[in-house]
Amino acid sequence: MFINIHTHHPTLLPGLLEIESVYFGQVKAPVANMRSVGLHPWFLEGIEMEVANKWLHEQAALKNVVAIGEAGLDKVCKTPWDLQLLAFQHCIEISESVGKPLIIHCVRAFSEILALKKQWKPRQTWVFHGFDKNVLTAEMLLRAGCCLSFGAALLREKSPALQSLRACPGDRFFLETDDAAVSISAVYERTAELRGIKPGKLEGLLKVNFARFEYLVF
Ligand SMILES: [Zn+2]
Repeated sequence: MFINIHTHHPTLLPGLLEIESVYFGQVKAPVANMRSVGLHPWFLEGIEMEVANKWLHEQAALKNVVAIGEAGLDKVCKTPWDLQLLAFQHCIEISESVGKPLIIHCVRAFSEILALKKQWKPRQTWVFHGFDKNVLTAEMLLRAGCCLSFGAALLREKSPALQSLRACPGDRFFLETDDAAVSISAVYERTAELRGIKPGKLEGLLKVNFARFEYLVF
């Protein structure tokens, strides 16, 4: 079984476990049963924070919602920083109160997010999704107790994610497709090749990681 920890386009194919990422204000109705819910930094302008928070609270409590996110900070998008900080901290708070891990969207804000982690001292796992940075950044996040989720970047010839995946301990990573036009099976295949392990072993490893998802505290 392949586990896709973060997708915006679930395939609903048999033999897959897919977590559909749903954000407040999303027009498209979710189709997968298993979901993560969050306040996406790209889609915050003009929303009523009180309404968004109420939605998040209600959604977060649902059994089929297995994680909070994506949520995070993005220095490249146009959303005002203060608004991003406010929404992200709502998501951190909810992740802690409902006891579900946090799936993080981070663009050029690694140190800011780690500073928040120090401040909040969360019990829940923080997973940096769509990780495509170098080993130094990977190690900084791993040292801070975070996990990494790799996706389409692994299929690019020269992505720094290739080295980072090789350097990542087996119990600290996940795989995903996000909104890329790639299949989770291709991501698994490439990961097995890069780490030099048998596909079956990789499947087993990621099953264990997923089972421990909510309890990974470092
Ligand atoms: Zn995403």
